[in-house]
Amino acid sequence: MKPLHIGIAGAGLAGRMLAWRLLRAGHRVTLLDSRRRDALDTASMTAAAMLSPLAELAVSDAVVFAMGQRSMQLWPQWVDALHADHPDAPPVYYRQQGTLVVAHAPDQSSLQHFTRLLQHKLPSAFATQVQKLDAPAIAQLEPALAGRFANGLHLLGEGQLSNEQWMAALSGVLDRLGAVWHEGVPVELLEAQRMVARNGLEVAVDICVDARGVGSKSALPQLRGVRGEVLRVECKGVQLQRPVRLMHPRYQLYVAPRPDHAFVVGATELESEDTGPVTLRSMLELGSALYSLHPAFGEARVERLSAALRPALDNDQPACLQREGVWHINGLYRHGYLCAPALVESLVQKITEQQP
Ligand SMILES: Cc1cc2nc3c(=O)[nH]c(=O)nc-3n(C[C@H](O)[C@H](O)[C@H](O)COP(=O)(O)OP(=O)(O)OC[C@H]3O[C@@H](n4cnc5c(N)ncnc54)[C@H](O)[C@@H]3O)c2cc1C
Repeated sequence: MKPLHIGIAGAGLAGRMLAWRLLRAGHRVTLLDSRRRDALDTASMTAAAMLSPLAELAVSDAVVFAMGQRSMQLWPQWVDALHADHPDAPPVYYRQQGTLVVAHAPDQSSLQHFTRLLQHKLPSAFATQVQKLDAPAIAQLEPALAGRFANGLHLLGEGQLSNEQWMAALSGVLDRLGAVWHEGVPVELLEAQRMVARNGLEVAVDICVDARGVGSKSALPQLRGVRGEVLRVECKGVQLQRPVRLMHPRYQLYVAPRPDHAFVVGATELESEDTGPVTLRSMLELGSALYSLHPAFGEARVERLSAALRPALDNDQPACLQREGVWHINGLYRHGYLCAPALVESLVQKITEQQP
């Protein structure tokens, strides 16, 4: 195999993961990103990074489900592989202990609706991954929630990771494997074998990939940004082992535990490309969902409120497609972490097959 020089515009989750897998396959990679590598205002840095193929099926389709299933096989292997490539990097928080789904007594119909929808859409081979729970079973799974919910669901096999740690680990491994990374350099033109940045930098490549998320709108007219907001808190008074989804007639929110007593509460979903700060309304919704899960969250310290745009295509499915000689990896929408390994794997294969 002849090593190729691959240029990637955009170093979010998609760009970084693709760059890493291409370097591992023996190629050379140049990355250009309009932001610094530790900027917090991208979808990848804002996400809750829950890996929820089952829960997400209620709001997605069979394509996302299949990508999610493949990714759930790849995630543990890729977390280990990244550590093997960069043993000095701090370990990445990754858990696969399922998801708990609950609803307060007045919102039981929301939980019932979610359960029926899931049972209707879920292929029968996966039916055993959805387990109904009564109050004692909830208490056994999450002792902190004992006595708070009469029933719920356990979605087996679902997972989560720390997106901040994963993105930082990718950053470290890309340096270690020799990626050339231009930070703070917006790309204005992408051609099959050329990338041109606003500052005049031109990079000649063998293959060009556009991974700019919502920044690719000029190249992909069917792309839109979907605003999402999350709240991050620190709370020593509650311990959760796994993400908890709270069903509610107006909004469905989740609380995902992170290392060091941190919790991510998310996420709003608004058909808006507003990139402004989190609104008071969203802050109250996120905060009340958290407080209603357990009153000890009343003493939680607010660490961060963040908003970002999820890049979505018309059919809400992630895609790798080629336009005028340029590859695009985009449309990761609300399933970026869930689907990225499968999507990146398929693009690496397509690029490899394209070799002369
Ligand atoms: C609130 C919220 C919660 C989420 N929760 C989850 C979850 O629990 N599970 C899950 O699976 N997914 C979740 N997601 C979705 C996931 O975060 C996204 O699908 C994924 O991060 C998209 O990655 P990306 O690399 O395509 O885009 P981005 O993260 O947007 O990265 C794009 C990169 O391109 C760069 N760029 C933009 N324009 C240019 C330009 N002109 N030139 C050069 N560089 C450019 C940007 O600086 C950025 O670094 C969530 C998203 C949000 C917003």
